[in-house]
Amino acid sequence: AMASVARLDLDGNPIDPMTICMIGAGGFIGSHLCEKLMAETPHTVLAVDVYCDKIKHLLDPEEGQEASRGRIQFHRLNIKHDSRLEGLIKMSDLVSSLAPWNRSDSGSLLAFAFFNVILSLYFVIIASHPNVVVEQILFSLQTINLAAICTPADYNTRPLDTIYSNFIDALPVVRYCSENSKRLIHFSTCEVYGKTIGSFLPKDHPLRKEPEFFVLKEDASPCIFGSIEKQRWSYACAKQLIERLIYAEGAENGLEFTIVRPFNWIGPRMDFIPGIDGPSEGVPRVLACFSNNLLRREPLKLVDGGQSQRTFVYIKDAIEAVLLMIENPARANGHIFNVGNPNNEATVKQLAEIMTQVYAKVSGEPPLEVPTIDVSSREFYGEGYDDSDKRIPDMTIINKQLGWNPKTSLWDLLDSTLTYQHKTYAEAIRRSLAKPAAS
Ligand code: NAD
Ligand code: UDP
Repeated sequence: AMASVARLDLDGNPIDPMTICMIGAGGFIGSHLCEKLMAETPHTVLAVDVYCDKIKHLLDPEEGQEASRGRIQFHRLNIKHDSRLEGLIKMSDLVSSLAPWNRSDSGSLLAFAFFNVILSLYFVIIASHPNVVVEQILFSLQTINLAAICTPADYNTRPLDTIYSNFIDALPVVRYCSENSKRLIHFSTCEVYGKTIGSFLPKDHPLRKEPEFFVLKEDASPCIFGSIEKQRWSYACAKQLIERLIYAEGAENGLEFTIVRPFNWIGPRMDFIPGIDGPSEGVPRVLACFSNNLLRREPLKLVDGGQSQRTFVYIKDAIEAVLLMIENPARANGHIFNVGNPNNEATVKQLAEIMTQVYAKVSGEPPLEVPTIDVSSREFYGEGYDDSDKRIPDMTIINKQLGWNPKTSLWDLLDSTLTYQHKTYAEAIRRSLAKPAAS
């Protein structure tokens, strides 16, 4: 239940309820962030996405989510088709006259009811307006941009869509925030670091063990990508350029921004299971690929031997960090934050082994005799694939600014996640496998 005691920020100041425009709210991270904001804060979310399946439980009052009633509104729209600027400048007066209601701490029910009437009218009026994203950014105090094509299988096979999605489509969002003095929390990626410096040393070189050769630091590490032919890096490069643009808007025009670099956040609702709630031929990120293999009792595919290393952080830990950023602007503005768990490192091969063990425990089914098979990256992803070798986030900045630390071990986060996968998909997979294959 919503506590009547005011929430406090890290400096002991009460946090006023705010309206957040969240673009990409229907995705994996967005769905967890919406859930958190509904369950633990009084804030309002204007959720923008082309899909809403992952936040249906928050939108549907039938599901008994009393606490979220009226505080989350879904707007189905594609931000690609929303880049006109005129309406924005026209609307900015409306924003400044409406926004103070959000900041009101009078606690007056009457004022709140009145605000809600205005809010509803406002949405009725703008519902058919083409510039809804613009309006929402103007109306809200802060914008969180999560929208992106962010599955590696797309980077080398759909490089144009990848670059447009991660750079071009984010441009108007940055511009509207800058021109209207709205705070922006933008989701980038750990992939902007690219490869480690150490990866260029001979395999058994002693310097490879030195942290300066592999630990990734926001304010010190270079961004190292492969050649242009390696189209894998189209995503990282687009994300890097939008980061630089946001940083420059901050430096030259005073934009209040925070950039988040997620390091392999994983958990329930990540991506899709091919043939069940996504295309049969689709290739999601590794958690969903391996979950799919385990559910279907087929060997897990190790790309190029599964030697690449990753650090995995539980989505619920990572969301705590995002909430701290939202509620502590003075500590988060102007910063780029790594958000990951440096203690949860594994090679992809080790990940496959742990997931196999955890899934056997969760499902009660014995593991396969041959649990993994090797596959070349060319066969799995096609031409132009390349890989990050190792990703250890430096935690100094997020520790100092927000006092955040991840908590959940790799085993525990896979235990909760695979319990969810089994509960959600095992029956559907059984039914689909039982069906005679349509020819
Ligand atoms: P996701 O694919 O589940 O979520 C992205 C959401 O954005 C989707 O719901 C999609 O429908 C929406 N979207 C995309 N284009 C849109 C458009 N034109 N208009 C409206 N909505 C659009 O991915 P996620 O894991 O939740 O990632 C969110 C963000 O975090 C992305 O920017 C991604 O690059 C970044 N990120 C995530 C991770 C991770 O570990 N999950 C790692 C690095 C970076
Ligand atoms: N990978 C794999 N088998 C799969 C899917 C992915 O071996 O079925 C590897 C992939 O080559 C990469 C790692 O797992 O080295 C993580 O891939 P993911 O798609 O999760 O994204 P990334 O961390 O590369 O952004």
